[in-house]
This record gives sequence, C-alpha cells and structure tokens, in this order.
Amino acid sequence: MQSSGFKVEQFRKLNNWKLLEMDASIPLTVSFVCPADGKEIRVLCTFVGNGGAQKMRIGSCESCGYTGYIDRPTKEWIGRFYSESWDKGNPATQEERVRLEVGRRKIQFNEGLDKLTNRTYILQNKLKGLLKKDRPICEIGCGYGFELQHLKDWGFSQLTGLEASPHRAEVARRAFGHEIFTAPFENAELQEKLRAKGPFGLIYSHHVFEHVYDPDEIIRLVSGLQEEGDYFMITLPNFEGEFSLGTLFFLPHLHTFTKYALAKLLAKYGYEVADDSLCTKYEISFAAKKVQNPKVKEPERKDFFEQAIAKFSNYFRFPKEPAGRKVFWGSRDIDVGGYLPYRGDFLTRIMEVFTSRLFTLRHKKELTVYIGTPPHDWRGIISLVVSPLENRKAHSPIEIQFEKNVKLAYK
Ligand SMILES: [Zn+2]
Repeated sequence: MQSSGFKVEQFRKLNNWKLLEMDASIPLTVSFVCPADGKEIRVLCTFVGNGGAQKMRIGSCESCGYTGYIDRPTKEWIGRFYSESWDKGNPATQEERVRLEVGRRKIQFNEGLDKLTNRTYILQNKLKGLLKKDRPICEIGCGYGFELQHLKDWGFSQLTGLEASPHRAEVARRAFGHEIFTAPFENAELQEKLRAKGPFGLIYSHHVFEHVYDPDEIIRLVSGLQEEGDYFMITLPNFEGEFSLGTLFFLPHLHTFTKYALAKLLAKYGYEVADDSLCTKYEISFAAKKVQNPKVKEPERKDFFEQAIAKFSNYFRFPKEPAGRKVFWGSRDIDVGGYLPYRGDFLTRIMEVFTSRLFTLRHKKELTVYIGTPPHDWRGIISLVVSPLENRKAHSPIEIQFEKNVKLAYK
C-alpha cells in the first residue's frame, strides 16, 4: 500500500479555480463517520501546513469507497462562504444581475442551446414513460430552471424548484414563471411547504450532492416526501473517474461517492437503484425507486481503500517522487496527469500550452465520454510547482505539504 506525496510550492495554472487559504480564522469540525454507511473512515491523505502545525485529512471508507474530508469547515462557515462568494457576477446589485440575465436565459432556452447539455439528456432518457403527467415533481438545485422548463414542455404541470442562489432562483421565476424556493432543503418551514405539495412522483438533483454538508439527512428528508413506487434521480461525480486534483483540492466537493456507496445510502431510506444505464466512469447517474425492501447490488471488488490509493498513485505517479522542482499538470476533466521540468515562468508556460494541446488530442475520445452525449468543451489543465516531500509529518499513504497555510480551491 505504499504511496507518497509532494510539497506544493506554488499553484500555477488554475483555470476557473480560486485559492482559499485555510488559516486559523476558518473553524473546522472532525468526522470519521462515513455518511454512506456509517462505518469508520480511514485517513488516505493529509495536507500538512506550517511545518506540521496544521493538518487537514481526507479519508476513504474501507467498506464502500466513499471519500471525503475528515477535517472540514463547519456547516455555518460553509453556508456563509457560499452566500458571500459563490456565483458573484460583476453587476452591483442583485436586481441588475437578474434583469440582465432573464432575457438571455429565455433566448438560450428557446434557441435550444441548453438542450445540448448532459443533464437534459439524462433527464429525458430516464423519464420515458415513467411518470403520469399530473404527478408533482421537485428539482433540488434547479439553477436557472431549464430542466423544469423542459418538463413543462413535455406536459408536466406540478413543478417545484429549489435553488440556493437567490439570483438564479429569481431568473428562473421571471424568465419561466416557475415556483422556486431558496431556503436550505433541511429548513423545517420549507419541508412543511413541500409536504403540502407532495407526495412527489419524482425528485431529482443534478450535481448537488457532492456539495451538501450532510447527504444522509437530505436523502432521509427526500424519502419523507415520497411514497412507494416514486422515483428519486440523482447525478453526481463518480469517484472512479473524478480527476484526482479535484477530489483532493476542491473544497466545495465535500464528498465523492462510489456507485456502491451511494446505493447503500439510498437503500437506508427505502430506495433501490432501478436504472444505472447512464452511469459512466466519471458520473454516477441513478434512477432509484422507493420500495418495500431495497436491495443493493454487491460490487465485484471490495478492496476500496486499495483502489483509492491506486487511483491517486496513478494520477500523481506515486511513489516516484519528483526529483527536485517539477511542474505537475493534471486534467481538469479526466483522471490523467504528469510532470514537466520547471524551467522558469516563461518556458514553463509555453510547455504547459503545448502539453494541454497534446493531452487534448491524445484523450479526445475519453474527454468526449466524460462530458456525455453530445460532446462539449473541456476545461484544460491545472498545474502546480512541486518539490519532494520534506520529512513526513503524518501517518497517511499520501501527504501533501505546504510551506505556510494549507491552500485549497473553490470557484
Ligand atoms: Zn462507507
């Protein structure tokens, strides 16, 4: 189970990421409990800052493969962080931003631009003949309301959207006339309102669960809004193919599930996976049905911890430590990475551009599968200057050191 790590000297190419310095002002909580099956999480990777004085751990569950932060900011801090820094545009006021977006989103929908998205494709394919048109539907994290609008087009009439960003919710209301709530899903008043509208024949969410603080609580509440025979559709990144830099460094993705981990969590609240035909290595996409005695399909391999180490080792080329200063580059989309020599800022930049092009050519097919059908623009590479580990400060297979505070990413 040998693995290794490196010291991060500098983040170079960040793409659309921003850096967050994990200083003492950010309150952290600790949990070793797997949110998928309640088993103990084992430390997989430790971020070490300030010469060992600061440690942040990421763990993986040996019995289901769930992987996520053991040390993470408190729920209150994350909530505040989202409301203050997520999805902030240039215009000065919310009203101005809404006004600017409403027309644009309407046109975008009418011209069918968004129909090219993976999420519409998934919804369309999963819904075929599954649900009577008069059953209520709820989307958790509806963004600008495109999918709700598609449902309306397809003849569904009882539609409710939940969207944490007030700006997006308001655009969805004004552009399409949807009913949208902005309260957190677990909010008691909201749950009361939703119960009055339910039971929902379908509740669905697209790339939301990797962000929620407590996935177990959310699925428990979802289950409370449905009856036997109803469907819950969920799409989120698949640990198997998620790019490793993201799994480790991208703080807003608090969790990564394996198919088995998610199926176990769903079964806990009465859901059985009825369709997994749209799952890829990169994305889990389940249609789950509420049933009396849900069964979970057993995976072929159960050495989850070893598989997790192998995944990271493969991406970061462990245990071959970089001799001297190197540039590590990793895809922003698929789980492929490598090293370049560090030759000063200018030459390194040229090499990065070249690497990025070459990588895109070599992995075109895989990148296309990543985005789903049909193809879509991918997002290039992220790079960091790294050097060999100094004396190891933690007892975990992977260790990543920083000169000062640990730095993670958000966008
Ligand atoms: Zn687990």
